[in-house]
Amino acid sequence: LRVLGIESSCDETGIALVELPEGVGGAAPPRLLAQALHSQIDMHQAYGGVVPELASRDHIRRVVPLLRETLSGAGLGLDAVDVVAYTQGPGLAGALLVGTGMACALGMALDRPVLGVHHLEGHLLSPFLSVDPPQFPFVALLVSGGHTQLMRVDGVGHYTMLGETIDDAAGEAFDKTAKMLGLGYPGGPALAKLAEQGDDAAFKLPRPLMRGDLLDFSFAGLKTAVWTQLNKLDPAAEDAAQARADLAASTQAAIVDVLVAKSLLALKQTGLKRMVVAGGVGANRRLRAQLDAQCRRRGVRVHYPELHLCTDNGAMIALAGAMRLQSGRAQASREYAFDVRPRWDLSTV
Ligand code: ATP
Ligand code: MG
Ligand code: FE
Repeated sequence: LRVLGIESSCDETGIALVELPEGVGGAAPPRLLAQALHSQIDMHQAYGGVVPELASRDHIRRVVPLLRETLSGAGLGLDAVDVVAYTQGPGLAGALLVGTGMACALGMALDRPVLGVHHLEGHLLSPFLSVDPPQFPFVALLVSGGHTQLMRVDGVGHYTMLGETIDDAAGEAFDKTAKMLGLGYPGGPALAKLAEQGDDAAFKLPRPLMRGDLLDFSFAGLKTAVWTQLNKLDPAAEDAAQARADLAASTQAAIVDVLVAKSLLALKQTGLKRMVVAGGVGANRRLRAQLDAQCRRRGVRVHYPELHLCTDNGAMIALAGAMRLQSGRAQASREYAFDVRPRWDLSTV
């Protein structure tokens, strides 16, 4: 069984084809046959963030060429597609409609069923495409541009929310502080790079909600604290560049400390010995290093998606669709209803 995946929830257009070697009900893991991706980052950079209308228009331009690229990469024709999975939400409504429209059009034309997939389920399951895939159950830390959640994952579609951010997402905290430092969009990787030259203890920044046994996060206060510190800096000072690097390092340290502490707390509370980290911030090297070190000490295995699958892509959507079908959690449908879900809670999937 071959599942085509289409991702268009934000500023990446992604298409991929995965194969379930033994079909529905089988146990063999899905295999990625080919994928193609276009990021709109360059286009949105001038605006300092994603412009929804421009995002939708660009998805429309990219989706057919990327589909062709994927099929030729797999050496297969359109008739090789058995099911079309697409990101149904959450995300930008107009952007989601492009992928959904494409999926439904393909489904109708080829007489194949379609399956709406939750974008975060794609992120969550993406480590299953790595050489060392996890096993259920595990604790998942989902850290992306729009979400920060700790979940207990007992199987495909069995997701229990343990805690989530009450304001900004971790990726948003990276992006917003990077923007204050004039590092462009999206600022996560740039802030991490600048932080390498800085002293992470130079600035005292808050680590909100660290005390107690709550698994929720809050990053809005950190943003304000960074702004306050930044305004105290003298841009003409001799050590201004170093001070900025120190502030970047201190900010990254504060975000990572909170993410690691809450992850360890979730492991302790659930008693689980396995962990998955997914979403764009999962690419952060400091987060990986600290989490790995702490987990090794506790006999916990941490699984990550391959680096290029941390941010948005079509492969994770094709994979999530395939795994939902394989586990019997979902059935593809020929209803071709163009219903997107811009807001959609993962624990209701
Ligand atoms: P969501 O999945 O919640 O809808 P999204 O799809 O925009 O949001 P992702 O593509 O998973 O989010 O991740 C993008 C985020 O990851 C951005 O906020 C970006 O700054 C952050 N990010 C990427 N690489 C790094 C890194 N090395 N360090 C820190 N943050 C990073
Ligand atoms: Mg993106
Ligand atoms: Fe995402």
